[in-house]
Amino acid sequence: MSFCKFCGGKKLREFIAHEKMLGLGEAFVYQECLSCHSLQIKEVPEDLSPYYPSEGYYSFLPLVQSDSFRLFLKKLRMRMFLKWGISWKSPSYGYWLKRIYRSFDDAIADVGCGNGQLLYELHAGGFRNLTGIDPFLKESSLIAPGLKLIKSKLEEVDQKFDVIMMHHSFEHLHDPVEELQKCYDSLKPGGRLLIRTPLANCEAWKEFGTNWVQLDAPRHLIIPSLEGFEALVSKSGFRLKEVLFDSTGFQFWGSMLYERRLNLVEKSYAGQFSKEELAQLNEKALRYNQEGKGDQVCFFLERKD
Ligand SMILES: [Zn+2]
Repeated sequence: MSFCKFCGGKKLREFIAHEKMLGLGEAFVYQECLSCHSLQIKEVPEDLSPYYPSEGYYSFLPLVQSDSFRLFLKKLRMRMFLKWGISWKSPSYGYWLKRIYRSFDDAIADVGCGNGQLLYELHAGGFRNLTGIDPFLKESSLIAPGLKLIKSKLEEVDQKFDVIMMHHSFEHLHDPVEELQKCYDSLKPGGRLLIRTPLANCEAWKEFGTNWVQLDAPRHLIIPSLEGFEALVSKSGFRLKEVLFDSTGFQFWGSMLYERRLNLVEKSYAGQFSKEELAQLNEKALRYNQEGKGDQVCFFLERKD
């Protein structure tokens, strides 16, 4: 790959990034675009499965279902939050949900849904037309009326959606132009697209370099900068409606663990940070978000037609 997958820029700086989350230490060549500062892996490994262990990878833990009392509460809270604007005990993901919400009947797809927990929470909250899509599911299943999980790729699902969401799955794909086109093709006219992704060229990248926890080699194949993502969208059938920073203290403490040569799976990090330190890092993350310096964002897009 000799050009930036986001802006098409041809001047790329190569560097080595090591697998750190699992502590494997394997080296991979990455490229930073000198024009837009997006990041990408130079060559996608043929077999990525060793880097997604089936035991314990967070997106495939068992789905936790609520009892009927909790279902009742969740429905009430969701209605209060989305219909009446009351944010008492509103869901932690409410900040992006309220921006894409129009109706509980909207056909919503979550691409790269993992175990489907997020969709289950939306179902519990009263949404009635939910589809999880993930080629890495064990099998397709109907979790509840109005909530199905399909073992498939988006382009193979024969349905059009009002909303497509990608919660930290976009960066695991290798061709952003193609992925945007697939989303376009699977949305109804005027359909909405939410992409939540790490953001290149952020403060944490500048501070921690290859120890930045969300570089996440070799799982993250592409990481857009703001400029790179805007260039990508300008060549697509979408318009970018809003960019919302939602980074957390993880950008700091995760990266600090890597600086200390610790990984994220062996629980060796327990006790590395006090409660006060973690609270301070979360506060710093909030400040970064307000200043547009955080290491992850929600991109809200809309089909132009
Ligand atoms: Zn670029």
